[in-house]
Amino acid sequence: MNILSYTIPSSFSLEQAVELPPLPYPYDSLEPLIGKQTLEIHHDKHHAKYVTVTNSMIAGTDMEKDDVVTILRKAYGTNQALFNNAAQSYNHAFYWECMKKGGGGKPTGKLAELIDRDFGSFDKFRTEFINAGMTAFGSGWAWLVVDGKGKLKVTKTIGADCPLTTAGDVPLLTMDVWEHAYYLNYQNMRNTYVHGIYIYIERER
Ligand code: MN
Repeated sequence: MNILSYTIPSSFSLEQAVELPPLPYPYDSLEPLIGKQTLEIHHDKHHAKYVTVTNSMIAGTDMEKDDVVTILRKAYGTNQALFNNAAQSYNHAFYWECMKKGGGGKPTGKLAELIDRDFGSFDKFRTEFINAGMTAFGSGWAWLVVDGKGKLKVTKTIGADCPLTTAGDVPLLTMDVWEHAYYLNYQNMRNTYVHGIYIYIERER
């Protein structure tokens, strides 16, 4: 069973406000791979706090009306605390959209062609994506991105970092590998989580 998505879901905008979006499915949707309690705490506590802190940090500044991606880009390299919270606000909003009940399987259409072209095969992509999740040391994220030249690549980031601080890169898929994403279900066994949750496709870009 796989539950991840590949492509930016149609409901997701990079220009979204700094706010906590509702989880786009019921909390028990990703059982048994990701438990109800994990999603409740992860969304309602962890994600919510990143949003609250970001909003408190931009209150009264010229970033108050900016979207979350603009804020994280402005803060990158200049205000680490604001960057961390804004990036985590974005990362989690995107992560929720990357999964759904009944997701999984191989992509089709244009994305399947691009994966074959840029990774050699779906299996090679999957191996690379899983490996990124497994080798992000400590807290981090695995990503499938399309770069400014239209080439797909897998990356990993540490802490709150995300591909949006690399010019031209646009995320298509992410996997949260912070322990809070899997610890209630899997404790120290990140491997089980990482192998369990990959891949579904919602739409082509
Ligand atoms: Mn998280």
